[in-house]
Amino acid sequence: LGVRFTKGQLAIPELPEVEWLKGKSILGAELIDAVPHVKYANLPRCVGQQISAVNRRGKFLLLPLDGGDELIIHLGMTGIVTGEKPEKHIRVHLELSKNSVSNDLYFQDTRRFGRFLVVKQGEYETLPTLHNMGVEPISDDFTDDIFKAALKKSSTAVKTYLLSQKPVAGVGNIYADEALWQTKIHPLTPSNKVPSKKIPLLRQAIVDILKKSIEAQGTTLNDYRTVNGEVGAYISELKAYGHDGEACERCGVIIEKIVVGGRGTHFCPNCQKLPKAQKS
Ligand SMILES: [Zn+2]
Repeated sequence: LGVRFTKGQLAIPELPEVEWLKGKSILGAELIDAVPHVKYANLPRCVGQQISAVNRRGKFLLLPLDGGDELIIHLGMTGIVTGEKPEKHIRVHLELSKNSVSNDLYFQDTRRFGRFLVVKQGEYETLPTLHNMGVEPISDDFTDDIFKAALKKSSTAVKTYLLSQKPVAGVGNIYADEALWQTKIHPLTPSNKVPSKKIPLLRQAIVDILKKSIEAQGTTLNDYRTVNGEVGAYISELKAYGHDGEACERCGVIIEKIVVGGRGTHFCPNCQKLPKAQKS
């Protein structure tokens, strides 16, 4: 198996380690048991081009090609990118020039939420999440001022807004619940009502959680999956996510689970209070 998750090489742990693709030429592209609609757009166009770099933005894997196009992969909920042929649910197969790792790239996606498509380099209009994506969390660009300005732009529930990737890239469902628990912010707080003094704390919590989960090589599930689905050590450090019905480690009140923006959301009703104006 050529694709492994390698500690410390990725800023966001849910993407597999795919550095070996750099420099490979794409000799063939085949769509398997999938229709060539928007999720798999322009796939034949990548044939004959060479992968010139392997980049990442949030949960998107970006592979610029030397012919001016860009191969974009999003794993969705169940996507896996691997050099070893999976037994089933293969959606895309790329035939690649030889190197020591593998001559093939397979995109396996059981539930079909992922994407594997070709666009003109840097033209992300058909991918709104990528097009509107905020700064990278583990970078000098992610400052208190930038984060504050981003949060002030929206009155959407802060949990939902974090998941939109607009204020900062790479925050998944588990990260969001943990960061909000740590900073005692109710997930339904409108983004522009998050108290100013808590914004630097929330920024720091996001950075700390991402770094910790990278060190632990991810947890599991949709946000943190390593390429072979192994359960990372970070799952043992979660304080809110998955702890509904259990006592809050900080105050002893029972952690609740609600749905926010369609996503299961875990919080402590005692530690994480809505701002006064938001109470009904
Ligand atoms: Zn609590």
